[in-house]
Amino acid sequence: MKPKERMAIQRQMPRELDPAERITNFDEVVFGFDEETAVKEANRCLQCKKTTCRDGCPIHNDIPAFIKLLREGKPEEAYWKVRETSSLPAICSRVCPHEFQCEGSCIRGKKGDPVAIGMLERYLVDWMRANDKNIMQSCALPKDKKVAIVGSGPAGMTTAFYLAHEGYPCTIYDSLSVLGGMLTVGIPAYRLPRDIIEAEFAALKNCGVEIVPGVTIGKHKSVQQLKDEGFDAVFLGIGAHASRKLGVDGEDLEGVLHGVDYLRRVNIGEKLDIGNKVVVVGGGNVAIDVARTALRQGSDKVFILYRRTKEEMPASMAEIHHLEEEGVKIEFLAAPVKIHGENGRLTKIECIRMKLGECDASGRCRPVPIDDSNFMIEADAIIPAISQDVRHMDDTETSFDTTRWNTYEVDEVSLQTSVPWIFAGGDAVLGPQTAAKAVYQGKVAAESIRRYLEGEDLHAGRMPEEEASEEG
Ligand SMILES: Cc1cc2nc3c(=O)[nH]c(=O)nc-3n(C[C@H](O)[C@H](O)[C@H](O)COP(=O)(O)OP(=O)(O)OC[C@H]3O[C@@H](n4cnc5c(N)ncnc54)[C@H](O)[C@@H]3O)c2cc1C
Repeated sequence: MKPKERMAIQRQMPRELDPAERITNFDEVVFGFDEETAVKEANRCLQCKKTTCRDGCPIHNDIPAFIKLLREGKPEEAYWKVRETSSLPAICSRVCPHEFQCEGSCIRGKKGDPVAIGMLERYLVDWMRANDKNIMQSCALPKDKKVAIVGSGPAGMTTAFYLAHEGYPCTIYDSLSVLGGMLTVGIPAYRLPRDIIEAEFAALKNCGVEIVPGVTIGKHKSVQQLKDEGFDAVFLGIGAHASRKLGVDGEDLEGVLHGVDYLRRVNIGEKLDIGNKVVVVGGGNVAIDVARTALRQGSDKVFILYRRTKEEMPASMAEIHHLEEEGVKIEFLAAPVKIHGENGRLTKIECIRMKLGECDASGRCRPVPIDDSNFMIEADAIIPAISQDVRHMDDTETSFDTTRWNTYEVDEVSLQTSVPWIFAGGDAVLGPQTAAKAVYQGKVAAESIRRYLEGEDLHAGRMPEEEASEEG
């Protein structure tokens, strides 16, 4: 096919569940491509010499190579090409904010729509499943040094994945009864069906990874105890699970729930009746997930309060589009200043109008309150979803250096903490970020732990991720 012909093909759009139908359940909203659509979309790729898409992918998947295999009619080979660099393609293809990563760096996006890289990756995963193909890689013979992994989110899953495939017996501990970290207790099932996550755990177990839910390290046993029990190294992938507070009066009233706490309860299976009129505060994906979950839980007057404008919303455009389709309104340039209540229960939220003030170097403008612009909103519930912090282990035996953002201080190349046999990665190091960044750090930590266990130099031939990307 000539480049001109490729350029003429329009970006293919996936089918989606009808908004009226989907808000009644947690079924997956976006359908995958069929073969014809996938090949048509793959044909839009220009196979650029400078692989900017690959640089934009936090895991550096060889995107042009897998797209080429796909359009040559080799979906299984294309899947294994992705697996060369990614431990969790089934998950990343569905939840990565592609517009800010690979697709945001696709050369076709400079003039028109980028190639739908995420949907093509998903097609391969769905094809493997539909054709009953084995997604398990061969496992190495067990070695005698073993590793404990704290946290079963994408960082912990990835560390276990790479170490287990090298033959190091791994045990994953998680304080929750369900596995997958924020993939399971944060991201709703209508964006990431649970059987996709379960298949990844089945693959890990197949490689001998032991999984122990319901054990909180720092409470039920300390990190030092893990070492005393015979683990030679420990990886901390405990995420960022403490909801950030609004810091306004009335935040302790009944009817105020915090974003990730609310999602965790719903995702674990609790049926929460939070009333009809729900106000969600925030402009990121968590706020959108909360609002769309509240709709599906039966609240029919849900809206979002955001202190900047649509252009500044950190949420992805696709998520904002889905939210609006489902009937959720966003009140822009407004922020809560006080929560009012009666008999210990919230009744109204006092808000103030904002305007955009000075902008920083990145062009992001500061919201500034407008004097005497206060107004009231009656509500049954308010759910602030304005970010999360790391909830550190309650472990007095081992002390770790932390940063001024209260994340773990780690060596930027090896992800080793201030305690040599302990490594950390994912949101616990980066602050709330993305699944793909947690996957990448899990992979880096696994290589560091391997070197540590083999007595090799942790730094030789490696460089911090930022410098590596600049060179790439
Ligand atoms: C609502 C929501 C939506 C999101 N949407 C997206 C999205 O669309 N795309 C995307 O890429 N990213 C998204 N993210 C972010 C993404 O989920 C996280 O960046 C990612 O899961 C971080 O991985 P992690 O392994 O570092 O931590 P987590 O996934 O948070 O896992 C940490 C695990 O550690 C366990 N743990 C904590 N402390 C202990 C302890 N002391 N002992 C034992 N276990 C412990 C926790 O129970 C948890 O299971 C979203 C996050 C949220 C909250």
